[in-house]
Amino acid sequence: MKVQPVYVNGEWIEADDSTLLAVVNPANGEVIASVPNCGADEAKRAVDAAYEALAGWSQKTAAERAELLQQWYKLIDQEKEVIGEIMTREQGKPLQEAIGEVTYANSFISWFAEEGKRIYGETIPASHENKRLLVLKQPVGVVAAITPWNFPAAMITRKVAPAMAAGCTAVVKPAELTPLTAFKLAQLAEQAGIPKGVFNVITGNAKAIGEAWLQDDRVRKITFTGSTEVGKTLMRGAADTVKKVSLELGGHAPLIVFEDANIDKAVSEAIASKYRNAGQTCVCANRIYVHESIAATFSEKYKAAVNALKVGDGLEAGTQIGPLIDERAIKKMENHIDDALQKGGRIETGGKKLALNGGFFFEPTVLINATDDMLCMNEETFGPLAPIATFTSMEEVIQRANNTPYGLAAYVFTESLSKAIQVSEKLEYGIVGLNDGVPSVAQAPFGGYKQSGLGREGGHHGIEEFLETKYISIALS
Ligand code: ADP
Repeated sequence: MKVQPVYVNGEWIEADDSTLLAVVNPANGEVIASVPNCGADEAKRAVDAAYEALAGWSQKTAAERAELLQQWYKLIDQEKEVIGEIMTREQGKPLQEAIGEVTYANSFISWFAEEGKRIYGETIPASHENKRLLVLKQPVGVVAAITPWNFPAAMITRKVAPAMAAGCTAVVKPAELTPLTAFKLAQLAEQAGIPKGVFNVITGNAKAIGEAWLQDDRVRKITFTGSTEVGKTLMRGAADTVKKVSLELGGHAPLIVFEDANIDKAVSEAIASKYRNAGQTCVCANRIYVHESIAATFSEKYKAAVNALKVGDGLEAGTQIGPLIDERAIKKMENHIDDALQKGGRIETGGKKLALNGGFFFEPTVLINATDDMLCMNEETFGPLAPIATFTSMEEVIQRANNTPYGLAAYVFTESLSKAIQVSEKLEYGIVGLNDGVPSVAQAPFGGYKQSGLGREGGHHGIEEFLETKYISIALS
C-alpha cells in the first residue's frame, strides 16, 4: 500500500509507520493509501519554509509568477484524467464529475495567474500642493489554507491560486479523508518549477496543525472552507495574532420555483444543484419551495428524473451518484429522513441506504410535504435528500428562505424579470442562481452572508483577500 509523504520546502518527507492515517475509498471501504499524521512540529516547519520563500516569491514580477502558475495549469490540464481518478478513489464522486472538478479547479489557476497582473494601486489628489498620495497593494504574507474533503482540488486552488498570484506563499492542510489529490497538485507544482517553500502541503492532526498556524505570528491569513463550527473556532483563534480571515462555511440553500417557471428547466437545474457530488456540496439545494399551483407537476417530473439517476462506484461508466463520504454521512441522511417522516413528510422515491460493494451508498431521495420544522429544512443534510415544500406568495417564500442563520447560495426559477429581480434583491444570500443551478465560476465572487462565511473567493474580489493596502504620503521638498 502506498505511503504518501508530505510536501514541505520542496521536499517529500516520509513519516514513520507508527503515525499514519489511512485513506479509504468510500465506494468499497478499502484502504488505498496512508498519509503522515503530522502535528505542531511539521506545521511549524511548513511555515518556516513558506516564510523563507516569501521574499523571493513576492519580489518576482506578476508576469513571472503568472508564467509559473500557467505552467502548473498546463500540467494539471494534461493530467486531469489521472487526477480525476485519484479523486474518485478517495472522495467517491463519479469520474466525469471528478475530471470536471479538476477543470474547474484549474480555471482558478489560469484566471488568477492573469489577474495577478492587474493588482492596481491608486493615486489620490492631495490637500496640499507639495504632497503626493499613493496607495500600494502588497501581498499579506504567509497564508494558511485548511480545506474540506468534498472538493479535494478546487477548494485548494481557489485559495492558493489568488494567494500565489498576489505574491503570498502558502501552507495547506487538506482534509485527511482526501489528501491524495492535494499531493498530486503539489507534485505538479514542483514539476512546474514553482520554487520550494511557496506551496507546502501537510496532513495530520487538524487541531494541532490549526493551532500551530493560528499561534504563529508569521502566518498573516487563514483561509478556510468547512463546517461553521470549525470556522468559528478558527476565527476565535485568529484573534490573538489578528490575522486576516476568510471563511467559506455551511449553507442551507433554498431553491424556489415560481408558478411561471419553465418547469422542465427548473427540474433539470434542481437535479444538478441537489445531486452534484451526491448532495455533498455547501451550495447544494437543501430545501425546494414550489408554488402550490405547480407542486404536483414539479414533484412528478422531479421524481422521474431522480429515478433515472444511476448510483454506483464512480469509476464505473455511467455512474451519476457515487457513495457518500463515510458512515457518519449515511447516519445523517437516516436521521433527517426519520425526523421528516415523523413530522408528516412522505418519501416519493429512495429513502434507504444501499448495500453495494461495502461502500457508503444511499438512494437519491425525494420527500414531499416538507415543513419548516423538519431538521432537513434547517440543517445541511450533506446527502442526496431533496425535501419539497409548497408556498403561496412571494413575500412568504422570501421570508421562509431567509429564516436561517446561513446565507451562501439560493436558487430562483421564474420567467418573470420583475419577480426575478425583486426576489434576488431580497434574498440574504451571497450567491443567487437565477434559472441557474450551477453558478460558480473562477471570475465571479463566491461566498456567504451571515454565518455562511466571510470574504469571497473568485473574481477580483478573491485576490483582494490576499492583499494589504499601504498608503504612502509624500511631502515634496
Ligand atoms: P466536515 O464536517 O465537512 O468534515 P470540517 O470543518 O470538520 O468539515 O473539516 C474541514 C477541514 O477543517 C478539514 O481539513 C479538517 O481536518 C479541518 N479541521 C477540523 N477541525 C479542525 C480544527 N479544530 N482546527 C483546524 N482545522 C480543523
